[in-house]
Amino acid sequence: MSRLRYHLAAAVMLAAFALPLSAHADPCKLDISGNDQMQYDKQALAAPASCTQITVTLHHSGKLPREAMGHDWVLVRAADLAAVAQAGMGAGLANDYLAPGDKRVLAHTKIVGGGESASVTFSSALLTKGGSYAYLCTFPGHNALMHGTFKLD
Ligand code: ZN
Repeated sequence: MSRLRYHLAAAVMLAAFALPLSAHADPCKLDISGNDQMQYDKQALAAPASCTQITVTLHHSGKLPREAMGHDWVLVRAADLAAVAQAGMGAGLANDYLAPGDKRVLAHTKIVGGGESASVTFSSALLTKGGSYAYLCTFPGHNALMHGTFKLD
């Protein structure tokens, strides 16, 4: 009887540990941070092709307001990165520094400031497995430092 109790206790403990772990390990949910030094914390992101929906959450780990050091996360085809950044520069904060109706933008968050977060969920059907995609921050002047590669594996 005491051995059974031991096994039960062990099972309960395992369940307690497994829950938060599995919630965090969803490969279709990705996180990235931007800071006050105009940097993302990741230079590459990837999601498995088995995801039907992909969610990317951008955190701003800094303190500066979005007017001074705003960041967004914008997904494009790698070849479109410079053109989307250029087109967005004049669009203003009210448009999240994205040219309105820019079809080259596959997915994007809004611009966030220090301490804020924003998420975007998009269909993996927008992407081709193995295709070359990139993400960038379209706040004027940021994309030279704030960009990375995105892959559907
Ligand atoms: Zn930025």
